Amino acid sequence: MDYQAILERIAQDVAPLVGDGTPAEYIPALAAVDPRHFGMAIADLDGKVHGVGDWERPFSTQSVTKVFALALALSLGGDSLWEHVGREPSGNPFNSLVQLEYENGIPRNPFINAGALVVTDRLLTLTGDASSEVLEFLRQESGNPELAFDPEVAESESAHGDRNAALAHFMASYGNIANPVPALLDHYFWQCSIEMNCADLARAARFLARHGLRADGSRLLTRSEAKQINAVMLTCGTYDAAGEFAYRVGLPGKSGVGGGIVAVVPGRCTLCVWSPGLDGQGNSVAGVAALDRFTTLTGLSVF
Ligand code: GLU
Repeated sequence: MDYQAILERIAQDVAPLVGDGTPAEYIPALAAVDPRHFGMAIADLDGKVHGVGDWERPFSTQSVTKVFALALALSLGGDSLWEHVGREPSGNPFNSLVQLEYENGIPRNPFINAGALVVTDRLLTLTGDASSEVLEFLRQESGNPELAFDPEVAESESAHGDRNAALAHFMASYGNIANPVPALLDHYFWQCSIEMNCADLARAARFLARHGLRADGSRLLTRSEAKQINAVMLTCGTYDAAGEFAYRVGLPGKSGVGGGIVAVVPGRCTLCVWSPGLDGQGNSVAGVAALDRFTTLTGLSVF
């Protein structure tokens, strides 16, 4: 398949949508990003990457890192994670508090903020340094040792982090957070601040297309665990629009409020698209459209 030609066609098709939507406003450092960027990359199973547009320009990964934190927590701590976080779509905004009270402080899934805080809390207990563990993993899987946190974004998020603090404290009151909340929040904000480009992210996510095998050929996850993460991405990875994303794109995907989306074609390739203009649910407008075009043009979806 000529991935380069497909990417160029997609970039042309979605050009009228680039700039639509608004960058995340609740984190001031992200609100300042120009919404007219668009980049997309495809990595094959061996890590060969094709790209178009701003595919080499770094952006704030934000919630896309939740996938990598989940994979590490599962790999290091095993299935007991699922006693602390569920696997059902929430149907509510990503930073919602409401369901936690009815469900005894157990968040619906690892990709809403409450669930990701639980995952980072577990990773902190398992490793002593959750955010560095995620960064190091991303460096190894992408092959880019230069990847780094963005202190301006981490601090901006921390300064405006009342909602995440509320979620963490609320879950702590149910005994579902093991570490001191301020330390957990720091690790979560730093993890979200990691800057990457589309090529690095597409490469780093390959273990999900390689049924759990890392870039160096060692095993991170069992085949079943890789399947499970892909399934949770499909059902919960794109906020309260996961149903619409599955309908339009038909691939496991995880989006972030920085405008990035990673998607997986198991056994075949990984994709990353970035465009900072977000729709009402927090997904990149041009990004979703580009992935929609990809599966339509290539027929490559999990269905
Ligand atoms: N750091 C962001 C937050 O916690 C991540 C949100 C996202 O990308 O969905 O609010």
